Amino acid sequence: MKKHNFSAGPSILPRVAVENAAKAVLDLNGIGLSVLEISHRTKDFEEVLDEAVALFKELLHIPEGYSVLFLGGGASMQFCMVPFNLLEKKAGYINTGVWAKKAMKEAKLFGEVETVASSEDRNFSYIPKGYAIPSDLDYLHITTNNTIFGTEYKTDIDSPVTLVADMSSDILSRPVDVSKYGLIYGGAQKNLGPAGVTFVIVRDDILGKVSRAIPSMLDYRTHVAGGSMFNTPPVFPIYVVRETLRWLKSIGGVPAVQKLNEEKAAILYDEIDRNPMFVGTAQREDRSLMNVCFVYSDEYKDMDTAEFVNFAKERGMVGIKGHRLVGGFRASIYNAMPKESVQALVDCMREFEKQYA
Ligand code: PMP
Repeated sequence: MKKHNFSAGPSILPRVAVENAAKAVLDLNGIGLSVLEISHRTKDFEEVLDEAVALFKELLHIPEGYSVLFLGGGASMQFCMVPFNLLEKKAGYINTGVWAKKAMKEAKLFGEVETVASSEDRNFSYIPKGYAIPSDLDYLHITTNNTIFGTEYKTDIDSPVTLVADMSSDILSRPVDVSKYGLIYGGAQKNLGPAGVTFVIVRDDILGKVSRAIPSMLDYRTHVAGGSMFNTPPVFPIYVVRETLRWLKSIGGVPAVQKLNEEKAAILYDEIDRNPMFVGTAQREDRSLMNVCFVYSDEYKDMDTAEFVNFAKERGMVGIKGHRLVGGFRASIYNAMPKESVQALVDCMREFEKQYA
């Protein structure tokens, strides 16, 4: 039986992308070779890479002057590549959780780091607002969706300095005004593809401004000049990214998936708000459309988390155990998650209430 996959990442991918990837593993385009066996310097792969870049630009309306890169190393590598390439004196970070903190830790190796705003005072349950952004920063770094705490920026903020965003867990889930950002990055393994490839969208004119020497592999300019082919790129993950982007285009692109994401999130949050056994952990207006975090309500707080996790598991649902820093439950409902699976979870929560409330 196919499971309802609520994992936070690596996570659910469009079925058609997985099927096409499986076919390409056996034989790519009928050429008698597996996608796993071909050189990245072949026409067959260059077509895949070019189309993936073109679709990314098209679907996100990426303006002229930006490069799209597919690299290795995960979003975690970007935590150090960003300051390596952009931090001369001082950078600002908005501290919205674990991933933001990890990015800050790396940046401190390269210069001064100012915490411009933080939501740590209430266990990262909201997105900070109403703070002033100093104009003497080399850049301001934000995490647009906080995978662990289930909070998300709903709009693109205005920044007087170069804006850098970790969009690992909400890229392509809503339209983004890319022109407001200098650099956007993320691991692919939520909305874009399997683990093993990292996307970077960078405005070319912000590069080459720092005085330090940068090793070739960590210098964005190397990868811009090499078209993500300076060294062997993650061939197979990029293939799956291309398939995922084709699927996204086929269902109507980012505005269409945003509408679906809003509907799915509403179904689930409505149930959390209605069901006396559960309560959401994120402040309402900052609730993530991607990672829905909830715990037992006060009245049921002594119940074991495993009770509901196992109850859901028996009904084919996996990946709903919350991160230990929040506890409770987390349902990740990325782009590829069908509405039927969200409805199945809601039905499961109702059944659980009937049995235990
Ligand atoms: N940033 C965010 C928002 C994430 O959710 C994650 C992974 N869950 C990371 C960064 C780290 O990504 P990676 O494992 O690709 O280094």
